[in-house]
Amino acid sequence: MMRMTVLASGSKGNSAVIASSKTRILVDAGLSCRELMRRMAAVGESAEQLDAILITHEHADHVSGLPVLARKLNVPVYFTEATHRAWVRQMTPRTSMSYKQWLEGVRREKQERLDAQALAHQIAAGASDSDRPDDHFFAAGIDVNAIAPPDAAEPASALLTAATDDLCEDAEPGTRQSVRDNPTFLPAVEYFHAGRHLCIGDIDILPFTIPHDAADPCGFVFSAEGLRFGFATDLGYVPENVKQALKNCDVLLLESNHDLEMLRDGPYPWSVKQRVLSRVGHLSNAAAAEFLMRDYDGGALYVVLAHLSESNNAPALARLAAEQAIGGRLSLLGNRVVLAPQDAPLEPLCL
Ligand SMILES: [Zn+2]
Ligand SMILES: [Zn+2]
Repeated sequence: MMRMTVLASGSKGNSAVIASSKTRILVDAGLSCRELMRRMAAVGESAEQLDAILITHEHADHVSGLPVLARKLNVPVYFTEATHRAWVRQMTPRTSMSYKQWLEGVRREKQERLDAQALAHQIAAGASDSDRPDDHFFAAGIDVNAIAPPDAAEPASALLTAATDDLCEDAEPGTRQSVRDNPTFLPAVEYFHAGRHLCIGDIDILPFTIPHDAADPCGFVFSAEGLRFGFATDLGYVPENVKQALKNCDVLLLESNHDLEMLRDGPYPWSVKQRVLSRVGHLSNAAAAEFLMRDYDGGALYVVLAHLSESNNAPALARLAAEQAIGGRLSLLGNRVVLAPQDAPLEPLCL
């Protein structure tokens, strides 16, 4: 028996339980501890029986409940080393940051601004070769002193606040203070590497690298008892290694983030639209459909569409694109297209 229970999916938080008859793993903890506990109880997943928490990448929608939940359940957390480091950096109050770390952050931000301005200039100028931004352009408007030091509005600080405010109703006294005093403490940390199998209990896990703008983001294939569950969200496109990893899955959870037209016409600022659309952003309905049409082997009982954008997608559009792509294979046993919602858990998928 293997079971997948998606507790939440989307830009406001992601988490799912993958279980065999002996082992339970929580993949990501992107809701508050309280909400994760509530949703697990609602679908009959015993939080106390979780064996581990496995993290895909350090973005807030995947880790916001992590510090409190890991402490409460006293379970090991599995990251890649780079993701763990990135998470620690994110959770460390800026006051304790070294000058070198701060300077690195400033340089990175400066470079990002330069890149964004260069791109904007190219587009404004019609993007012809002769219109490459010149030195004058680069010299203009960039003043290192004008780059403000990090402040309370930084995502890192926001994450820290979320962690300390996120208390389970039944958390032991002092948890809030403990998270505040030592926000990066976890009961145990284990490292895994993309491309190398690891085992948690009787579940074999193959992590694979996905193209996304995080430190070392991964998707996974979980195998136990002769079944394979594939898991891939937060990827800008589907590269060859992901196509290979997702073969022969019995359940396939795949990102179907946005409808291209809705994103283009939608409310996001231009820079955010560019990020979502980029090769390290998120997978569109069309890109997910292309994978399902050309590369998917049609062998899964369930195809779960995940990480749908609330602003730039409509469930009916995501479903239609996927079902059209699966095409004639829909009539065979399986290939049931299921949408993973943001606001409520999905019924457990048991095989
Ligand atoms: Zn992400
Ligand atoms: Zn995400």
